[in-house]
Amino acid sequence: MKYVKNYQCTLCDKTYTDFDLLTCPDCGEKGILEINYDYQAMKKEVNKDYFKNNKNMTMLRYLPLMSIKSSDYSTLKVGWTPLYKSENIGKEFKMDHLYFKDEGLNPTASLKDRASLVACIKAIEQNKEIISCSSTGNAASSLAGNAAKMNLKTVIFVPERAPLGKLSQLINYGANLIKVKGDYKDTFESSKIAIEQYNFYNRNAAINPHLVEGKKTVALEISEQLNFTNIDNVIVSVGDGCTVYGTYKGFYDLFNLGLIEKIPRIIGVQSDGCSPFYDAWKNNVDLKEAEENTIADSIAVGIPRNPVKGLKAIKNSEGFFITVTDEEILNAMKELGKKEGIFAEPAAAASYAGLVKSLEVGAINTKETTVVIITGNGLKDQVNALKNTKETFQISKREFEMKIKEELSLEKFLDLIN
Ligand SMILES: *Cc1c(COP(=O)(O)O)cnc(C)c1O
Ligand SMILES: [Zn+2]
Repeated sequence: MKYVKNYQCTLCDKTYTDFDLLTCPDCGEKGILEINYDYQAMKKEVNKDYFKNNKNMTMLRYLPLMSIKSSDYSTLKVGWTPLYKSENIGKEFKMDHLYFKDEGLNPTASLKDRASLVACIKAIEQNKEIISCSSTGNAASSLAGNAAKMNLKTVIFVPERAPLGKLSQLINYGANLIKVKGDYKDTFESSKIAIEQYNFYNRNAAINPHLVEGKKTVALEISEQLNFTNIDNVIVSVGDGCTVYGTYKGFYDLFNLGLIEKIPRIIGVQSDGCSPFYDAWKNNVDLKEAEENTIADSIAVGIPRNPVKGLKAIKNSEGFFITVTDEEILNAMKELGKKEGIFAEPAAAASYAGLVKSLEVGAINTKETTVVIITGNGLKDQVNALKNTKETFQISKREFEMKIKEELSLEKFLDLIN
């Protein structure tokens, strides 16, 4: 917080130094704020030595780059997830510099923990005991988990279609849960009414600018894990647009601090069954409401709440949007699992499907350094993961013994069970 210079409205550009604001007073809810920092002052503290001497191996190691006052809380261990160099898929595509950032290994198993932890800290800073949000699942489950650890209460709105994995997390983290009969839009509107009525702390990602500042730590980490060397492409899936913007913002910060020489191209992946960002970007028009027709529930967002920042991430980094089909997403889940040992939920595997598509159309060069962010764990949505089931070999013990007695070679045995 000490290096926050001002808040700036992404619609009217007006700046504010009232740091309790959540949105622009002139533009209302659509006036989402950007948090600007004084990089000249920050530079004196945040340099390569700062990272070398920093013993906090959570996202809170980036405190001076964030919009919270202190990191002095007992929290879940969010962040510092592994960045794996891909050996198998990398070899297949002849990419020597391909990496996977596995955000599914966060405490509640998605990248959303980075935003939820910040929301909990901001709520404590503002003396609020109840935090509320609407969510397709991960924002909710991560808020419930982080709040539980920090002794805060939550009131959470989810759409009917929220996958069981995420619902079961919510229930066991002790959230006060409201299932809204309808889609995500109805869910969001319902949460708004409650937040206004009861003055809950608002963890609706797009509206609350601090959440992007939490999500950006994924980019800070990726860069630090690669020793601040040049990265050409970072691929991430897009729903509301906060994650993709957070990714951009992290690199933007490091660039302004002189720690990296260039900002990578940010590549946003959407499902072709719900692609409002892609459509707007491709046709150079404003975002229009889209259908929510995809298995990737975490990015099935028909009315993205952060259109300005989401588009800005792609435009400012000279990246692009790309869409993938549900079939490509399911295939990506299987490939990631089989070849890298990473189990991703559909929205998380979408980024890898986006890499495959980008290579197919020649939008990414195999010589470039590319990082694919896997935003959430596959255990969250087993129903969709099971769609990749092929017929499992079934046999009784007696038959099995007989087969083995036929002295099958190992090769024949593997053929038999496959
Ligand atoms: C929320 C989420 C996204 C997309 O983030 P937005 O900020 O909504 O664009 C992608 N993947 C997973 C797993 C998510 O939970
Ligand atoms: Zn404004």
